[in-house]
Amino acid sequence: MYDVAVIGAGITGACIVRELSKYDLKIIVIEGSYDIANGATKANSGIVHAGYDAKEGTLKAKLNVLGNRMYEDLCRELNVPYKNNGSLVIAFNDEEMKTLELLLNRGLKNGVEGLEIIDKNTLLNLEPNISDRAKGALYAKSAGIVSPYELALSLCESAYLNGAEFIFDAKVTNIIKEKGKFTISTSKGQIISNFVVNAAGVNADEINKMLGGEKFSIIPRRGEYCLLDKSQGNIVNRIIFNTPTEKGKGILVSPTTHGNLLLGPNAHVIEDKLDVSTTGFGLEEVIEGAKKNIKNVNLREIITSFSGVRATPSTGDFIIDVPTRGAVNAAGIESPGLTSAPAIAIMVLELLHKEGLTLNFKSDFKNGRILPKRFIDMNDEEKKAAIEKDKRYGKIICRCEQITEGDIVNAINCPLGAKTVDGVKKRLRAGMGRCQGGFCMPRVVEILSRELKTEPENILKADSGSYILTGKTK
Ligand SMILES: Cc1cc2nc3c(=O)[nH]c(=O)nc-3n(C[C@H](O)[C@H](O)[C@H](O)COP(=O)(O)OP(=O)(O)OC[C@H]3O[C@@H](n4cnc5c(N)ncnc54)[C@H](O)[C@@H]3O)c2cc1C
Repeated sequence: MYDVAVIGAGITGACIVRELSKYDLKIIVIEGSYDIANGATKANSGIVHAGYDAKEGTLKAKLNVLGNRMYEDLCRELNVPYKNNGSLVIAFNDEEMKTLELLLNRGLKNGVEGLEIIDKNTLLNLEPNISDRAKGALYAKSAGIVSPYELALSLCESAYLNGAEFIFDAKVTNIIKEKGKFTISTSKGQIISNFVVNAAGVNADEINKMLGGEKFSIIPRRGEYCLLDKSQGNIVNRIIFNTPTEKGKGILVSPTTHGNLLLGPNAHVIEDKLDVSTTGFGLEEVIEGAKKNIKNVNLREIITSFSGVRATPSTGDFIIDVPTRGAVNAAGIESPGLTSAPAIAIMVLELLHKEGLTLNFKSDFKNGRILPKRFIDMNDEEKKAAIEKDKRYGKIICRCEQITEGDIVNAINCPLGAKTVDGVKKRLRAGMGRCQGGFCMPRVVEILSRELKTEPENILKADSGSYILTGKTK
């Protein structure tokens, strides 16, 4: 029997459970997939938006600006890569310059600080690789970049260290409320809880239906990306956006926190909420969109492509409400959901408290991570000591990112550890380098199979059904 059950371990659920774990509560996170951050949280632009996009008065506008202000401290506390590098919205003609004025005014109304419109000369001084056709830009100094899945992982690790429980591969299939308690049926059995939080991403409409909430739907909108090698990471220093149109924010060009260059996303409504495939047409759209804004980028340095699915709400705004007494929806969390998540968590806790959840602050709340420091991040003395203690630290498995066997064994065996190849990748960056796992993936499969005591054929790439090997050939 739990005080609170949180459905979904994306960035929304992760921020909520971490916030809840500051109080004397018995909490469980119910996650349908094999890992933390397997939904939209693993495949997005990683931008901490300034907050001039969303219409004034909406939850998106309010929580974006509040969330943005919380980011720097949160990432420092959790030791997660974050950079306040600022963003630029580029205008190419007078019409677009007028749109920049509208965005500036909206941003000021939303409470965004550090916003200004700059002319062509100032823009090209800041970013010499912007197209010569640019006329000016909206400069938002408070925008930044973060590693979204690393943040979600470290939030969950922190919650775990403070007593929160997690169950994976447990898809919620039904919820019944009786005598003030929720019986949550999952593919791994039933869980009973006094309070429920719905943070189920693209499936939040289905969970809301199970809770008997007012009807809304989630429209899946896919966005595709190209990721370029670190050799292109310095083409721009800031996040570069097109001037938005009715269709959305357009294609951005941004450095990542690990020094790569990201191009994307496009936006297309799709049928299947779980379809994260990429298409030739879509990637062409991304490349053309990016080329409009920047010059001198070497597109031969694209090392991978991927896509993520936005949970677009039929209401047009985040849905953070009470579908039935004792339950809270955090639904329709599309962009700027990553930015807003820390502020969404505060709002969800306020709603839970209003619903009767007692919040007694823990005196022994612990900050910290479960995952030990990676070998590459150690100083020389630490490296020497690590190899002396465990020889596997002396064996490099991922050559591109310099990840050792010792790191991988830790990432698998620690609480909330990796169970899949992508799980290892998200925790350590093994397979994220130039060769994209060409060299290390077979070795990572071998190590996972050995440590998890299962046949290599059973090792998955990311989630159920994503088999890598089909069987022995000899
Ligand atoms: C292409 C793209 C670009 C974006 N760029 C940005 C950006 O730059 N900045 C920004 O602020 N935001 C951005 N966003 C939005 C941001 O990524 C999302 O708002 C955020 O990741 C949503 O997190 P979440 O936890 O709500 O959902 P998710 O990360 O999708 O997590 C939901 C979780 O619920 C689980 N789940 C679903 N159904 C069930 C069930 N029945 N039972 C149990 N578990 C279940 C899923 O497995 C999943 O792990 C972008 C989104 C996309 C797709």
